[in-house]
Amino acid sequence: MDYQNIIEEVYYYVLEEENVGAKPTYIPELAQVDEHKFGVYFYSLNKRRFGIGDYQERFSIQSIAKVLSTTLAYSILGDRLWERVSVEPSGTSFNSLVQLESDNGIPRNPLINSGAIVVCDILLSTLENAEEDFIEFVRDLANDHSIDYSQRVAQSEKSVGYRNFALCYYIKSLGNIVNDPIKVLDFYFKLCSVELSCEQLAYVFSFLANDGIRLHDREPVLTDTFTKRINAIMQTCGFYDESGEFAFKVGLPGKSGVGGGIVAIMPNQYSIAVWSPKLNAKGNSYRGMKFLEAFTQQTRTSIF
Ligand code: GLU
Repeated sequence: MDYQNIIEEVYYYVLEEENVGAKPTYIPELAQVDEHKFGVYFYSLNKRRFGIGDYQERFSIQSIAKVLSTTLAYSILGDRLWERVSVEPSGTSFNSLVQLESDNGIPRNPLINSGAIVVCDILLSTLENAEEDFIEFVRDLANDHSIDYSQRVAQSEKSVGYRNFALCYYIKSLGNIVNDPIKVLDFYFKLCSVELSCEQLAYVFSFLANDGIRLHDREPVLTDTFTKRINAIMQTCGFYDESGEFAFKVGLPGKSGVGGGIVAIMPNQYSIAVWSPKLNAKGNSYRGMKFLEAFTQQTRTSIF
């Protein structure tokens, strides 16, 4: 399969089309990003790599980091993790409060804000220095120790993160947050502020295409069963209330973030990352969705 040729063709096709949507104005720092940025990086397990456009520029991965915090918590706690957070698609927006009351403070899944906030609380309780340990975990996955949080983005989100404050305090009132909510939220905003390029992002997620094994040193990050489960959560919950649509149109486990990034994996074959800052009404990158739909159609790859 000539992946490079297909990626080029699809990239220019999407580039010529209208760039619809809006940047997330609710996080001031993200509203300033150049909306014309568009990058793609493809990383196959048999080491075919290819990047196009702004694939080397770092951007805020936002909710994509929630897959990594869930992976870290799962590797430490095993199935006890699911006592604090469920694995059901929510069918609601990423920052929704509505289901928490009827669900007694147990978020529907770890990839929506409420679930990711609970995972932050769990990591704070289990690790001596959760913020430092988490970023080290990402650096090890990337095999790149220059990776870091963006204090600017974390601060910017904290200054206006009223919904996330509401979520965290509400869950605390329902008994599913143990630590001081301010500490939990500080960690949550930092987690969302991690910056990676498409090239780094595709590589960081390659272990999920590779039965949980890191490629550069063959270290197991997760067992193959746990890896399958993280992929299942991405498949069913990775795009909030557009998860069904992503499965329908793209057919790969993936995760988006309001920074405009999307990463997707084809088990045993490849990982691919796309970045374009304008978001559709559901908070997913407009061009990213379009690119992946055309790419998987052309390459005839899908887990279904
Ligand atoms: N930091 C963002 C928030 O909490 C993450 C949302 C996302 O990327 O979907 O609102």
